[in-house]
Amino acid sequence: MNQQEEIQKKKKSKLRSEYDVIIVGTGAAGLFCALALDSSLSILMVTKKGMKDCNSYLAQGGMCVLKEDADFDCFMEDTLKAGHYKNRKESVRTMIRRSRGVLRELLTYGVDFDRQGKELSYTKEGGHRKRRIVHCKDETGKAIVEGLVRQVKSRGNIQVMEETEMVDLIIEEQTCQGVYLHFNEDSFTQENIHPVYGRATVLATGGIGGLYENSTNFRHITGDALGILRNYQAEMEHLDYIQIHPTTLFHREKDGRKRLLTEALRGEGAHLLNHQGQRFTDELKPRDLVSAAIFAEMKREKTDHVYLSLRHLDSKVVKTRFPYIYAMCKDRGLDLCQDLIPIVPGQHYHMGGIHVNQKSRSSIQGLYAIGECSCNGVHGKNRLASNSLLESMVFAQVVAEDIKLGEGLINPRSKNLPKVRDWQEFLAANHAGLRERIEANNL
Ligand SMILES: Cc1cc2nc3c(=O)[nH]c(=O)nc-3n(C[C@H](O)[C@H](O)[C@H](O)COP(=O)(O)OP(=O)(O)OC[C@H]3O[C@@H](n4cnc5c(N)ncnc54)[C@H](O)[C@@H]3O)c2cc1C
Repeated sequence: MNQQEEIQKKKKSKLRSEYDVIIVGTGAAGLFCALALDSSLSILMVTKKGMKDCNSYLAQGGMCVLKEDADFDCFMEDTLKAGHYKNRKESVRTMIRRSRGVLRELLTYGVDFDRQGKELSYTKEGGHRKRRIVHCKDETGKAIVEGLVRQVKSRGNIQVMEETEMVDLIIEEQTCQGVYLHFNEDSFTQENIHPVYGRATVLATGGIGGLYENSTNFRHITGDALGILRNYQAEMEHLDYIQIHPTTLFHREKDGRKRLLTEALRGEGAHLLNHQGQRFTDELKPRDLVSAAIFAEMKREKTDHVYLSLRHLDSKVVKTRFPYIYAMCKDRGLDLCQDLIPIVPGQHYHMGGIHVNQKSRSSIQGLYAIGECSCNGVHGKNRLASNSLLESMVFAQVVAEDIKLGEGLINPRSKNLPKVRDWQEFLAANHAGLRERIEANNL
């Protein structure tokens, strides 16, 4: 046995057949949930790639927070307005009310948000009437995920399996008893599919961007939970609510992922220009409206991109506030402070998903969904900038509380033998036409 095989064998030997809670996904939602759960519970976390290969890590702009009580109604109204009033108000209220608690928790986990003097620094993005977004330069997601990962690794009750894919759920009589897992390095034979039982299973598998050619998302985030749940008649909600981000860099990327130019750039004063160098829209309208304005301008000019310009802004401020984006553009031969930056709208976020109630429970007993794969109605038809990290973590906390009460737990262990099937065929069938079905709101 070579060294690689030894490592794989060791990894497999660590996998138990039963845990209290199984969490699928190591983005902000999954990680925050694992940390919020009682430390007496045994927790398994799995992720398809490495722990930090999640869209949460890519977040640039920041995380909304209720800065002062007086902002409650304004924050609520901005979220509802961006969502075209299709939001579930109760969920929005929960998110805003709990925002400071999440921020406090992140600070205790060592996330180093930017400050002005001793006070936290707040920025603004499209659709916000007030500065209420905390940030870590332009790599907020990286700072948050790294802080959470550090904590998770220090907890003895949380086991993380990387390069491990959930290929199915163990669901019988509309009750979820766990997951079927497959290690990436293995072939898809029956003996390489591992049933793992849990008293509660939490889906935190993120969005659907990998199903699109032009998306800011990691390519491996492909709506897997939605594809799997198609087989079990789980309730879905607003699957066709898909967000297109106005400003992704118009550039062919080797890894196929479009690079985002955060809305905070426009929040700090960047302009959108057409090929005549003219502004053509209010840059701070909600995302869907700005994207629509860009598409209309591209159509009018018969071009495949427009420009973002920061040339009129103080270059020192730009470089200090957006060092990651400055370097990313530089790598591609563009000077963020001097050049017109070519941009095009791209798929960015999925507002719809697995229907959950106020406790984040899905319609299947024992199965929760949180973060982007779920739909608790916070975002309505269009997500307000920087609400998703917050929403992911707020409802992760809600799940932990529900599990603590014991209400969401089931008695695991089906007596049935694991399903025998052609697993590769099963996976292919789950993904076949998935994007089209999501867009047609008909899973
Ligand atoms: C470029 C970019 C910038 C963004 N900027 C912001 C921002 O500034 N502010 C903000 O609030 N939001 C922002 N967002 C959105 C936000 O980052 C995410 O929507 C949110 O964090 C979703 O978190 P999540 O935990 O639900 O999913 P993710 O962070 O995407 O994590 C999904 C996890 O599920 C795993 N997974 C998926 N399928 C499987 C499977 N079958 N088996 C095992 N594991 C699986 C993945 O490997 C991953 O670990 C941005 C998104 C992008 C792409």
